[in-house]
Amino acid sequence: MIEKQNPKWVPQLLAWYDVNKRDLPWRDCGDPYKIWVSEVMSQQTRIEAMKPYYDNWMQLFPTLQDLANATEDEAVHAWQGLGYYSRARNLRLGVQEVVNKYGGIVPSNRKDIESLKGVGSYTAGAILSMAYGKREAAVDGNVLRIYARLYGVYDDILSTKGKKAITELVEATLPHDRPGDFNQSLMDFGSAVCIPKSPRCSECPIRNMCYAYQNNVTDQLPVRIKKTKVIDVPVWVGILQYGDYYLLHKRPNRGLLRSMWEFPSLEGANSFDEAEQGLAELVRALGFTLSLQPVMAKELTHIFSHRKWFMKAFKGDLDYVQPIPEMSDSIRYIPDDADIITYIQQSLPKDWMLIKRQDFANYAWAGPHGKLTELCKETQCNK
Ligand code: SF4
Repeated sequence: MIEKQNPKWVPQLLAWYDVNKRDLPWRDCGDPYKIWVSEVMSQQTRIEAMKPYYDNWMQLFPTLQDLANATEDEAVHAWQGLGYYSRARNLRLGVQEVVNKYGGIVPSNRKDIESLKGVGSYTAGAILSMAYGKREAAVDGNVLRIYARLYGVYDDILSTKGKKAITELVEATLPHDRPGDFNQSLMDFGSAVCIPKSPRCSECPIRNMCYAYQNNVTDQLPVRIKKTKVIDVPVWVGILQYGDYYLLHKRPNRGLLRSMWEFPSLEGANSFDEAEQGLAELVRALGFTLSLQPVMAKELTHIFSHRKWFMKAFKGDLDYVQPIPEMSDSIRYIPDDADIITYIQQSLPKDWMLIKRQDFANYAWAGPHGKLTELCKETQCNK
């Protein structure tokens, strides 16, 4: 077992970091808000993929106050494409807490910062060490993997016991002088050298002190025992048009992809006939009849943490069959007349809408439904 107090690998890793660190806009800025945004965005998203979103976010909400003043829709819309949208909602709520409770200053102690919405132990450690120079651990999957290999920890890193054992190791090995750089060096080292599969041990500056390398067990560490069962769910989707307009539904404000817009969908049907009947019932309640094309327009698979959607999308046309009152004969039978559309829009429940293709970009799409918008080319879809 290598030493826990002042281990030799720590200065060697920091020296590697000084030469190899990634040039990132939130680095060395000392701004807790920017570090906070970057840490939340980089959860479940690679740094290279999230950087353009970070830049765009900072254009829209350059300060904590700007984000606190934004609406939830504005925050979620700016997050579009990153997934896991509760991160955007919680970030905004957390920032509002900072403004309302702490006078706009992000707290500099773990207890207060962890009390903020969406700020967990890792994000707290990253902000405290990088913005305030505090000797605080930031333990994420990267760090769990690196330490399990370095110190030969065979506990399941997804278990409470494994996380606790490694967190104690990190706290013991954190340097006093450069805790923020140390936490960032682990992030870069974990993404460039000690990567999840096939770590690049031949390039590793600390391999002489690594348990897994010395014992030839890099393929056995870390130990991860997955418990989450992913449920397969067939989802039948209708790309349904009324004239130039598409029918969209806003998902409930709780649960998966909450409050985001989707094409009318049905979970769990086992055949096209079942799906057609289910979608027809769905739109009948809104006053429409449905004519669904039996040829599948697109097939998609989308994996969430607990579910896997097998999506089958079909195009279809809608007719509005409810009487439209107080309209002159001259406009009564023009299906895409603005007055009729306005009337139907007003008759729909508030979680449904008719919308033109060119306005799609103004709405936050429910994950994979955004990919189905490509089926809605103006030229193909106009009646
Ligand atoms: S020697 Fe290999 S397994 Fe060990 S820390 Fe370096 S890259 Fe990771």
